[in-house]
Amino acid sequence: MNFSDIQKQEQQNIMPTYGRFPVAIVRGTGAAAVDSEGKTYLDFTSGIGVNALGYSDAKWAQAVAEQAATLQHTSNLYYTKPQIELAQMLHEKSGFGKVFFANSGAEANECAIKLARKYSTDQYGEQRTKIVTLVNSFHGRTITTLAATGQDTFHHYFNPFTEGFVYAEADNMDSVRDCVDDHTCAVFIELIQGEGGVRPLSPEFVRELAAFCKNRDILLMVDEVQTGIARTGKLFCYEHFGIQPDVITSAKGLGGGLPIGACLCTEALGQVLNSGMHGSTFGGNPVACAGALSVLERVSEQPFLKEVTEKGAYLQEKLSKIEGVSEVRGMGMMLGAVLENTQAKDVAAACVEHGLLILTAKTLLRLLPPLNISYEEIDRGMEILEQVIRSCSASNKNRKG
Ligand SMILES: *Cc1c(COP(=O)(O)O)cnc(C)c1O
Repeated sequence: MNFSDIQKQEQQNIMPTYGRFPVAIVRGTGAAAVDSEGKTYLDFTSGIGVNALGYSDAKWAQAVAEQAATLQHTSNLYYTKPQIELAQMLHEKSGFGKVFFANSGAEANECAIKLARKYSTDQYGEQRTKIVTLVNSFHGRTITTLAATGQDTFHHYFNPFTEGFVYAEADNMDSVRDCVDDHTCAVFIELIQGEGGVRPLSPEFVRELAAFCKNRDILLMVDEVQTGIARTGKLFCYEHFGIQPDVITSAKGLGGGLPIGACLCTEALGQVLNSGMHGSTFGGNPVACAGALSVLERVSEQPFLKEVTEKGAYLQEKLSKIEGVSEVRGMGMMLGAVLENTQAKDVAAACVEHGLLILTAKTLLRLLPPLNISYEEIDRGMEILEQVIRSCSASNKNRKG
């Protein structure tokens, strides 16, 4: 099948929920992707922060293949080794006491929301169910996580949404105080708003918020779906902020390309959801857990984390030197670039033609390369980007002039 056949079949058979680039990726290694026509691309997206170790990493693929050939699935009515090993490794590396395994970021967040409501209503009565999230956040696509998402554009079409979410302004404690009342059970935040335009929260705000929550026994829950699994140079982003959340959620990078999500909580909160209160058919699936074990054991090593930090700094510097880039935000290998006189969507589309895959977030370019990308690949990617921005900028000027 060539690309136009693929595109036609897609249109005939798949709900048109995605605005796709005109590329069908068929295989890849590391940061290199190959499309249906044999063209290669440098991938600065890693499947939106999923392929933490790039495409088809050999050790990861072997771990996954071995597990698939041994035990691909059984129900959560039975114990399975990869699930328990992964839980143990997460415990050891993060210090969180308990975990629930789901299949996606949204599902991990659903677990966090249920946990917060159950904990608080057990302790303080039926009414304590309200959750404060931040304006411009993104927490997923289920009806409840859409309601948790603090952006009006996500609150159309699917009424009624789940009640009980209020939105505070980021970096504004007064706004948080206005949103919190006796019925508040949790504050749920991203430390770097990813989909919202790669916006890191201020450390002062985060620390003040953490103390505020602690004083009132309001759970501080951090959505680490995009920021976690070494993306920012720490295993989890909250480690940069000197805080200890009650609950964090993980997904995207965790499985290295397999669908898995996790909701991690303190030892005490680990007893809140008990038998029959939550569950998942696929959650903690052995193959997904084997993939996650392979990712986690490597990305959590200090030398690996140090390299992410250094490469991230290198990438950030290269990016900020590109003419037409006015600001670079983010941490580690989660970066956003504000463009001066070009549109991120146009630049991303033109990059594809020049063999570079890159993301956007709102009006920014967003870079989430595989964590093990090489310096040479960073150089090459930034050369392509510079050239593309230059030509987009030139054609914009021509159009205006
Ligand atoms: C991607 C993302 C989600 C949703 O994850 P899915 O796996 O698509 O359900 C939730 N929160 C954040 C911060 C994300 O970046």
